[in-house]
Amino acid sequence: MMGLWVLGGLIVGSFLSVVVHRLPKMLTQENTLRNGQQANLWWPGSHCPLCESPLRWWDNLPLLGFALQRGQCRRCGGAIAWRYPLLELSTALAWLFCGWQAVGLPNALAWALFSSALLALAWIDWETLYLPAELTQPLLWGGLIAAEFHLTGIALSDALWGAVLGYGVLWVVATGFVLLTGKEGMGAGDFKLLAALGAWLGPLNLLPLLLLASLAGAGVGLCLRARSQLREGGYVPFGPFLAVAGWLIHALGPTGMQRFFWRFLGA
Ligand SMILES: [Zn+2]
Repeated sequence: MMGLWVLGGLIVGSFLSVVVHRLPKMLTQENTLRNGQQANLWWPGSHCPLCESPLRWWDNLPLLGFALQRGQCRRCGGAIAWRYPLLELSTALAWLFCGWQAVGLPNALAWALFSSALLALAWIDWETLYLPAELTQPLLWGGLIAAEFHLTGIALSDALWGAVLGYGVLWVVATGFVLLTGKEGMGAGDFKLLAALGAWLGPLNLLPLLLLASLAGAGVGLCLRARSQLREGGYVPFGPFLAVAGWLIHALGPTGMQRFFWRFLGA
């Protein structure tokens, strides 16, 4: 049974790497192929982004394809992004964890989809500094619907307030930051992502989530700066840290983090 979760994760992870590669290009209209046609998520089939030669079916197999091609396009020798095997592997591990942790198939599937959306969002934000509403919005609706069907252990009203507070808190912080410094620190994508996480995790997890994400983001930002690997403008995307913190809080169980956190505060 656990093998099925790994297999499902590998297949979905393979699709996610297509989403991560193509969705931002579709949204910025940079998806035109050499023959003038527009690529979308389903068409054309997998091909080398450099020489556009199509992949053979066995090169498309998750993880195996990368190994069979030794990380290079067979035709032009261009390097295949490490994103493909890494995303496939991390999705498979996340699915395995959800299958192992959740009680019941619908619950496990709901959390597996939650994990998949977070992985895609984190990766897209890291590469493009952009969190597409095409993914944050379904994640938010998904959290509300999952709460209605008792798949997340969060009551529907808590999911609703989690979403409202998640959006609101970051909006207030970001607006204050703009007023104080005149610089834009966060984008609306971050508000929407935290709204979605609030719907899945409930309002009590929001504060620990934000603290965890801010600490991790600041730590990684400092490391990047020390190695002068910050991108131009010094931007560090916040989305990947929100996503990872949200996933970790889920992994600790519905009340694991909040119980620890609020007791720590003496509440
Ligand atoms: Zn090629």
